[in-house]
Amino acid sequence: MTPFPREAYRGLTRYAPDRRPVEVDLSDNTSRRGAHPAAVKIMQGASAEDLTRYPSVYSEQLRLAVAETFEVPLDSVSTGCGSDGLLDSAFRAAGEPGEEIAFLTPTFSMVETFARMNGMTPRPVRQTDEDDPSALLAEAPALLYLCSPNNPTGKILQKPWIERLLVAAESLGTIVLLDEAYADFADGDFVQEAVRSTRLLILRTMSKAYGLAGLRVGFALGPPDVIREIEKSRGPYQISRLGEAAAVAALRDEEQWLDGVIQEVKHERERLQEELKGRGWRPLPSGGNFILVPLEGRPSREVTAALRVKGVAVRPFPALPGVGDSIRVSIGPRNELDRFLVALDEVTA
Ligand SMILES: *Cc1c(COP(=O)(O)O)cnc(C)c1O
Repeated sequence: MTPFPREAYRGLTRYAPDRRPVEVDLSDNTSRRGAHPAAVKIMQGASAEDLTRYPSVYSEQLRLAVAETFEVPLDSVSTGCGSDGLLDSAFRAAGEPGEEIAFLTPTFSMVETFARMNGMTPRPVRQTDEDDPSALLAEAPALLYLCSPNNPTGKILQKPWIERLLVAAESLGTIVLLDEAYADFADGDFVQEAVRSTRLLILRTMSKAYGLAGLRVGFALGPPDVIREIEKSRGPYQISRLGEAAAVAALRDEEQWLDGVIQEVKHERERLQEELKGRGWRPLPSGGNFILVPLEGRPSREVTAALRVKGVAVRPFPALPGVGDSIRVSIGPRNELDRFLVALDEVTA
């Protein structure tokens, strides 16, 4: 008899973040500045046909809008049900069950989950900037996952380091996934390098800066040979009609709404850094719409629970490798960050 469930699923549990409603939710890095207005307009104008008809099979309008926005060829773009959907398709396309997915730790927690969901073996690697990047590829993993700016540390990977890594990856044939979920809040990205590479794939999402997490839209940019395989493992009808139309409208919008959001996030991020430092904390520098604050020996779950009692949610990171117990705080608007600071003062007094 075939065993049930499959071997790799025995230790796997459902994702269970704390999503109880709270006044000031700074726990999941989604937008606290509303949804992109061009997307909202599409949703308000929805017709019955948007519900009765199937969406386009491979989200062709969205691919086109992404290609135009990033000035890359159409066959360098794939799309998915959030960038989570693309992680899943990329893992499936690049590796056989049993093969390894290497990643720098700490990083996005879903990587391990998606590796296991596909019967692959997650291989966390601790590494410093000074280390030779090709060491990451020592065991010849099927795939290497990187995240820059990294969730949850906020760290931006340096360009020369990525370039050295890519040379090694290309000679081994290893696919490198670079998750740029937060690149909108940093300066610079690797999109053009990816499109010209043979092995680099960039993942992007509409869930953060665009404020569209509820729609589940993500996209990938990379060399056509890799994109073609991702499209196969992605499968048809992954994005709803309204999701695609709203994402296209947001990408095509020229009213600079996004620029305003990004500037405000960057400004408030710097202000929060200074406020925290002024109180004696040592927050990590961040290129994302969040800041990681090491708690200097305090237990992160207790601090998080105490903040919640005061109406503020953050994400706890117990015993984070190389950092210790920490909380991650999303960069909400000024009044929400002030609420957080007051609450933090009170619970850590
Ligand atoms: C939030 C986040 C995403 C976005 O995932 P979606 O499925 O597009 O909502 C992807 N990668 C990282 C590192 C994230 O933090």
